[in-house]
Amino acid sequence: MKTSELANLKVAIVGAGYGGAAAAKALSLLGATVDVYEQASEIREVGAGIGLRPSSMDMFRRWGIFDAIARVTSPSDYFEILTATGEPIMKDAWPGMDDYEVKTHTHLVHRNDFIEALVGALPEGMVHLGHKLETITDHGDRATLTFTNGTTAEADLVVAADGIKSTVRRELFSDQVPQFAGEHAYRAVVDADAAHGLVVDDNLRMYIGKGTKVYVLPLRHRNQMSFDITVLNPDGTWTPNVSKEEMLATIEGFDERIINTAKDLDWDKVNVRAVYDIDPVDTWHSDAVVLLGDSAHSMCHHQGQGANSAILDAGALAEALQQAESVKDALARYQAARKPVTDELQRISRQGWTEDELNDVFPGQKPATQKA
Ligand SMILES: Cc1cc2nc3c(=O)[nH]c(=O)nc-3n(C[C@H](O)[C@H](O)[C@H](O)COP(=O)(O)OP(=O)(O)OC[C@H]3O[C@@H](n4cnc5c(N)ncnc54)[C@H](O)[C@@H]3O)c2cc1C
Repeated sequence: MKTSELANLKVAIVGAGYGGAAAAKALSLLGATVDVYEQASEIREVGAGIGLRPSSMDMFRRWGIFDAIARVTSPSDYFEILTATGEPIMKDAWPGMDDYEVKTHTHLVHRNDFIEALVGALPEGMVHLGHKLETITDHGDRATLTFTNGTTAEADLVVAADGIKSTVRRELFSDQVPQFAGEHAYRAVVDADAAHGLVVDDNLRMYIGKGTKVYVLPLRHRNQMSFDITVLNPDGTWTPNVSKEEMLATIEGFDERIINTAKDLDWDKVNVRAVYDIDPVDTWHSDAVVLLGDSAHSMCHHQGQGANSAILDAGALAEALQQAESVKDALARYQAARKPVTDELQRISRQGWTEDELNDVFPGQKPATQKA
């Protein structure tokens, strides 16, 4: 689209998570008028760490916000997979580090620091908090949003970055619901000094025991460590009631440093969640409305690619708008570029467990996500 057409484009983004904030940055850089509508009354993310891959960091470089993001991260060289007791299984450099003009690391970041840095890079007044989308009406060449606070907004392009339970997806594109992955994740951020020697450098380590994976993600710039225990469990309650004793039982026989860190956890502060994803969605867009991030392709966290995919979606959408003749054409190009990649990531992100592990926890009745 021509620069003048992009300058006249009015964009409404639903959701100010990583996907919505990244899309707001990318599309406002094209010259479009962008408004972001977020249901929450403040911007906040669950306390846990994630890895921002080289491809995401390169996107930030192109958007002129590399330093603002890097400032709250630790650059990391590799990830390692070990047995429960710490014998190495594999160790690999993060893929993609040498794909750019300058070496680009994966950066480890606390989720809350990341959203603050990303939203902080948006122009003042772009994000409207306390706007929960209730309904969307697609008029073909534009769409109208109605919020529960009684206000409405109209835009030439609506980007639905409203997460795994997306209202826009349900209203316009698909009646499918989130799928329980048969897993729980217990997540906490602990002081590095209280991590019993687990924090030794800036690299991600995953320890694998039977039916349990422990992710140790250092956040040395904060003198902290993100600690995630993911276990097979048949209870699909979104916030399951699990005791500290039950959690400790899942890491029996693990490295002493992991057991001691887990014993010290203040259980009331641990984020306990059942893990959900969605099946691939056939159609991500109409002529004026498009899904982005988890609303389009929520995936399990085993590949650590959910946040990265949302950021790459934002870059691909901006590029498609620049290259296409019209919004309609751009949305088709965007889906063609991104959906094959995220379909595959969704598929492999479900492959975290062996048949033996699954049979132990789900005798005769595997979770739906493990049947394909
Ligand atoms: C604890 C945890 C750990 C994770 N670890 C990793 C990891 O290591 N690596 C990785 O890549 N991914 C990880 N993920 C997944 C990753 O965080 C998600 O894929 C990513 O946040 C998706 O971003 P999003 O913006 O698409 O959706 P979300 O982050 O879900 O954001 C959606 C936003 O939309 C808002 N919203 C929803 N409905 C409405 C509505 N009706 N009206 C207005 N606003 C609305 C929500 O309030 C929210 O702010 C993790 C997720 C969690 C929860």
